[in-house]
Amino acid sequence: SPAGDVIDYDVNTRTFPSVRMLSHREKKRILVTGGAGFVGSHLVDRLMLMGHDVIAMDNFYTGCKKNVEHWLGHPNFELIRHDVIEPMMAEVDEIYHLACPASPPHYQNNPIKTVKTSVVGTINMLGLAKRTKARFLLTSTSEVYGDPLEHPQKESYWGNVNPIGPRACYDEGKRVAETLAYAYAQQEGIQVRVARIFNTFGPRMNENDGRVVSNFIIQALKGEDLTVYGEGEQTRSFQYVHDLVDGLIELMQSDVKEPVNLGNPDEYSIADFAEIIRSTVNQSVNIINLPSTTDDPQRRRPDITRAKEWLGWTPKIAVMQGIEETIEYFSKVILELD
Ligand code: NAD
Ligand code: UDP
Repeated sequence: SPAGDVIDYDVNTRTFPSVRMLSHREKKRILVTGGAGFVGSHLVDRLMLMGHDVIAMDNFYTGCKKNVEHWLGHPNFELIRHDVIEPMMAEVDEIYHLACPASPPHYQNNPIKTVKTSVVGTINMLGLAKRTKARFLLTSTSEVYGDPLEHPQKESYWGNVNPIGPRACYDEGKRVAETLAYAYAQQEGIQVRVARIFNTFGPRMNENDGRVVSNFIIQALKGEDLTVYGEGEQTRSFQYVHDLVDGLIELMQSDVKEPVNLGNPDEYSIADFAEIIRSTVNQSVNIINLPSTTDDPQRRRPDITRAKEWLGWTPKIAVMQGIEETIEYFSKVILELD
């Protein structure tokens, strides 16, 4: 695959992708919370291919076993059904903490649970990091900047979040998760890394995810109208999942303690983006405007100077290249669903 290492695996043959052999000293025990989700499963793939021992933990709220089924039974891999709001015992060297629904319809479905997942879940995983002396990486979000008054967004920006709006359970949950990470770092000497992730897309997004890239591609493939919320003047900047996985691993391995934006600065208005998907996938569909959603951030683009200078990281995959891969993936999913 030109855009990365999407694992195309035939469950019937039961042959595992080949993984690197690491020495005992090099091989780490790595916990990925939310490991059966969209980003988590791609991170699991990469860490497995690198030769590490990987535990994927997930409650399957938005993730599913199918995303990691190609590793089930591999001696380096373990899948654990567990809710991160309950404490967990494991012996690990590194924790990538991703467990949290990420799409607005899913995190708004049960806002109390979303807050508990971010706050109690992060306390549990930081407690595990404290006991095992593991290095801890939090997948935070561009949502900590809210509806930003600064553009593009630098890590030094404190954000503009409505604390009682429908997005607050996610935004404020992640803001507290960051606060917790730095409190544990300062008070308990835990090694923490914080990635502020901007809109990411790619294969294995749940077909009911509800985020804009998967919605538009699935609608166009099914011959349905593309639903733009509001006039579509709001902007987002889209990154392909393989670039994000590179950045997460580089950040974990680095000495960078401050938060780091990980995103692709290629910015689109949602109306233009709908037109791009329509013309690429299916020109016979219409683009319709639905009411805008409350507190929808109007502009979003990462300033990635810090990631470039401190990690040597920059996105390598052009948005349209990633879109082609994602269209191919959803075409197969839709055929399977029919
Ligand atoms: P996703 O919904 O596909 O993955 C989240 C995973 O966490 C799912 O597998 C879900 O079942 C699991 N989960 C949810 N609540 C849990 C709980 N209480 N206990 C255990 N597991 C639980 O979303 P994603 O896009 O893969 O996001 C992964 C992480 O990255 C999230 O923390 C999200 O906030 C962050 N992030 C993602 C994006 C993006 O654009 N994809 C942007 C910013 C931040
Ligand atoms: N959006 C849209 N139609 C959809 C889904 C989303 O117009 O079917 C818009 C949404 O209002 C927002 C942008 O696309 O302005 C990105 O939404 P998404 O849910 O993907 O992520 P967000 O960045 O808002 O968390």
